[in-house]
Amino acid sequence: MPMPEAVTCICATFGDLAVVPMGGDGLDERFFATVESIRDHGGERWWLHLARCTACGQDWMIAQEERIYDDYYLKRLNSAEAEAVVSANVWPAEFLTYEAVLRFGQRHSKAFHFLDPRAGSLLWTIEDLRKARPDISTHEIGELLGISEAHVARLMRPERWHERIVRKLTMPRL
Ligand SMILES: [Zn+2]
Repeated sequence: MPMPEAVTCICATFGDLAVVPMGGDGLDERFFATVESIRDHGGERWWLHLARCTACGQDWMIAQEERIYDDYYLKRLNSAEAEAVVSANVWPAEFLTYEAVLRFGQRHSKAFHFLDPRAGSLLWTIEDLRKARPDISTHEIGELLGISEAHVARLMRPERWHERIVRKLTMPRL
């Protein structure tokens, strides 16, 4: 019988903040081969998790952004920070709002280009951003979503019947 190969982790290859794309070249599979979620923030902050590497013991705060950038954003935590999450539900500040998560994506990643200009991911995200901060501008939303301000303005009002027909006719078939 061959000996099972020791699983080594890739935690040491990351800085204190890092981007791990979903899918793609399989970096996420290699990372999550040893890293397991130990606490979900839950509630309104459904994107936020505390995870620990079973190989080296490193704690990570992970923001899961699967609407616009399709990435995991990692923050390396020291044991005191991880303990504060576990015992007191006190989380580091970086990814506490979805706006902050998207801002991190805007700076370090690339927004997905949606074939459907009224894709649900765009609509839901605009709704969430405005609920969290009612005075957010269309310019700011456009930056975070990687679309134009005019596109944001169109998404913020109901679609007119003739716009719907044009959109359906011009959307590429998959
Ligand atoms: Zn590790």
